[in-house]
Formats: sequence, C-alpha cells, structure tokens
Amino acid sequence: MNINRRDFVKTASAAGLGLLARNALSETNPASKTPLIGKQAITDRMAFGAWINDVRTEPLPFGSWPPVILDDIAEQSIIRTMDLQAKSGYNMFDMFGLFAAWGWPVDIVSAVDKDRDARVRRIMRAAHDRGIKVVYGLGVYSWGFDKIIEADPAVKGPNPHAMCASKEESWQWQKKIIDFILRYDFDGYHLEASDLGRCTCDACMKKWPVQATYYNGITARCADYIRKQAPDKYIAAITISWADWNTGFTEEDKTNLVELSSKVDSILDQGHHGQYIKQAERKAFIERLHCKFGTSGGFWVYPPFRCHRQRWFLPYTQKTGAHIKQLYADGGRTTLYYQGPITNPGVEVNIAFGGKIMSDTSRRVEDVLAEVLEELYQPKSPAALAKLVETFQLAENGYFSNMDYDADGVHLKALPAYPGPGELHIGFGIGLAGGTSAVPVYLLEPNLIDKGRAAYAKALEACLKNVCDIEDQFTATQRIQRLKGSIYTALDDVITIAYARETAKKP
Ligand SMILES: [Zn+2]
Repeated sequence: MNINRRDFVKTASAAGLGLLARNALSETNPASKTPLIGKQAITDRMAFGAWINDVRTEPLPFGSWPPVILDDIAEQSIIRTMDLQAKSGYNMFDMFGLFAAWGWPVDIVSAVDKDRDARVRRIMRAAHDRGIKVVYGLGVYSWGFDKIIEADPAVKGPNPHAMCASKEESWQWQKKIIDFILRYDFDGYHLEASDLGRCTCDACMKKWPVQATYYNGITARCADYIRKQAPDKYIAAITISWADWNTGFTEEDKTNLVELSSKVDSILDQGHHGQYIKQAERKAFIERLHCKFGTSGGFWVYPPFRCHRQRWFLPYTQKTGAHIKQLYADGGRTTLYYQGPITNPGVEVNIAFGGKIMSDTSRRVEDVLAEVLEELYQPKSPAALAKLVETFQLAENGYFSNMDYDADGVHLKALPAYPGPGELHIGFGIGLAGGTSAVPVYLLEPNLIDKGRAAYAKALEACLKNVCDIEDQFTATQRIQRLKGSIYTALDDVITIAYARETAKKP
C-alpha cells in the first residue's frame, strides 16, 4: 500500500474518488435568473459526493464508513443538493456508492434490489431535469472487490482490497462490474485505481515497479473498454495516491499521463496533501495533455457522517477561490469540488460559491461570496449583507490562519514551502475502525494548539456577535438561525476543549 503518512487519513480520503462528456453540455440553467457561465469558465464543473451519504442532510449516528444506505433521506438529500448545484452552475455530479462500497456481491446483480434500482433511476432523472450529468464513481481493481477477492483465490494478492493486476481473472471481474453499471447509462465514469493501494505480489512488483505505471495501466484498460462499449460517455482518471505526496510526479510519470490523456476526457490531480503537479510546472504540463486537467479546488473538508449537521462552521471560499482562479489561468478546465450536507451553513456556502467561481473565474472572490450570501439569506439592507460577508471571511481566517499542522501532522509553519492541507478531516468519528475518533480532531493538536484555539474561539465569538447584531435583517429567517446555531455549537466545542486542556495542566 502506498502509505506515506497515516493509514487513517489515507484510507479515509478514499473518498477521493471523480466528470463532462465529449458531447456538449447545455450551458443554460433554467433554475437561475441570470446566465451563469462566463467566458472564463471551468468547463467540467463537477460536484463530488464523494460518497452518496456525504451530502446527507441528517446525521447517521451508527454504522461504518462509508455508509451505502440509499433510503428516502439519502435520495432527498442528493436531490436537494442538486438543486443548489444547478443554481450555482455545476454541470456534473460524481458519486461513489450508488451500488456498492467495499464489496460487490459475487453475483454482482444482487447489489441492487428493486427499491435501489428505482431510487438510482429517480436520482438520474432529477439530475437531468436540472441540467446535471451523473458520473459514476468506479473502483478500478480496488474499491468494491473485497468479497470477490475473498471468494476467488485466482485474483488474490497480498492486499485484501485490491485484485492482482497480473491475473487475467481480475480483468474478467472488472469487466463484469463495468457491464452491469453500463446498463444504467450513466453520463460518465470516474476511474479510481489507487485509493486502497495496489497489488504487491512478486509478479506485479516485477512488471510494474513504479506504482504510477501500475495504476496508469489498469486505468487505461478500463477507459479503453468503457470507450468501446459507450463511446459518448465522459471518462475521468483520478490520480489519488499514484505518487509520493512530497515529491509528486516524476518525468516518467508525466510522460505516461500524457499517453493516458488520449484515452480519457479528464485527468484529476485532486491534491489531498498538495498537488502532484506543482503549480509552477502545471501550465507546461497541461499543454502537453490531450485531455482536460483539474484539481479538487485546492482545499476541502471531508464531511463527517455521524455528528449533528451544524456542529462545524468552516467556510473556505477565499482558499478555493484563489486556487480555482490560478488553475484556470494555468489552463485547468476541470474541478472535482467536494460537497457535503447543505444543512451545514458553511458547507452550503462553500458549495454555492464553488459552482459560481468555476462558472466565471474572472470574478472577484468577495463579489461571488456576496452574491451567494445575498441569494441564500436575502438581506434587507446592503449593510446587513456586508456584515454577513465579513462574518464568513472572519470564520475562515479565524480557523485557517491559526492552524499549526495539517491533518497529517505536517507542521505547516515549519515548512514554508508546504502548500498547506488539501483535505481536512475534522473528526467526529470518520475513523474506519469502529469510529474511535468521535471527537472534533480539527480543534485538537496538532491542528490547533492552545494559542490557535484561543484565537479561533475569539474569531467565532466575533462571528456570533455579528450574527446576533443583524439576525433580524434577513428574510431567510430559518437560515440565519441555522447559521447562528452552527457558530454557537462550533464555539462550544472550542471552549470545552480549551477548558479541558487548561484543567489538565493544573497540578
Ligand atoms: Zn499481483
């Protein structure tokens, strides 16, 4: 397994899973009053689930990650999220888990009963009604093969989650799954080969000593097969964990990606811990590609599924806004933008902002944020809107400018060249092994130390004061109360932790 840092983060980032078809998409949006798409738009404005329940508007307090339940709440949550996506300019929604997560059943077909089949078809119809294409998150030799690996010794290597790429039987299983999914006629496919590691048997190590070459090979094989069966579908190759996060892609890796780029529509260097293609070399690299290139917007919070939906308040429009503008300037035309529960006020604004800035990267970040807040909160005066904008920016700066370490324990302030975190896990039981980390780890060391926590508490207090001052100045009364509640609960967590830390230090 390619574990350069912590297994926990690595596996959980699995979520890392990412599309626009060769056929042109409609750029008009019936739900919006004004045309959204400017001249300097990211072409593939992909919302990324990542998993179907990551957008769930209510928590799922039990069970293990990633939950694959597809019930009324899951279906309604996906559709409500698509309403916001459509209004904000997204044109694709990429999801993992519509049929399976860790393991497809050996007969494949029993993964989908009548009820699930109907729900998936309703979700697809709802997406198309909103001008959004549905992209199916597809595991390539891993993610979805655990039961098959257990049942068929012919595909088994040392990794219980990844089929052996040297065995032809593995390809037969991969094809069976693709054939089943193709029946649904999704608009695109997100190919993810590497999140759970590779096969490291002697044969595979000898054939593909370089891991990026291994992943590239199986991804290309799937892309060729899908292209042959369904030529008009969008195909995205995702390179999560193909390389070492510190060094990124080698020249050999890049040359191999150029070759892959003639088989897919887009290559996505998501950036869980920074980009494999460093920004300084990005423009030149993109010029070599035969397909589009993109990232996941430079930063995201991976949403926890167990805790109350308003428990955290982490808007990050300045961070992703700056990244997406630079990505566009470098020639990037795809973004795989993480979603989350829209009942969290920070998440709701991050999603709407992401869609709008992708739709016109020439706009000022502050202007887009103000437009999003105006549409969602319906202020009664320009002054109320200005104060709300200030509040969202204050919350962002209050957390991110006080972080000492990223989620992997990389000391940000000691490494000025380190670009900062890509994916932030905030805790509340995202842990895979029974959910032992049921606490808000984003408020704990190493992410925040005493000083940072105190500064963040102060910032949240100022945010709360702002909202209390203006709460009667918005027509969207429920939304402003939800915002207030979210800031309150986040602040409560910070204060509780700060107090516990202080008490623990006393003799
Ligand atoms: Zn092998």
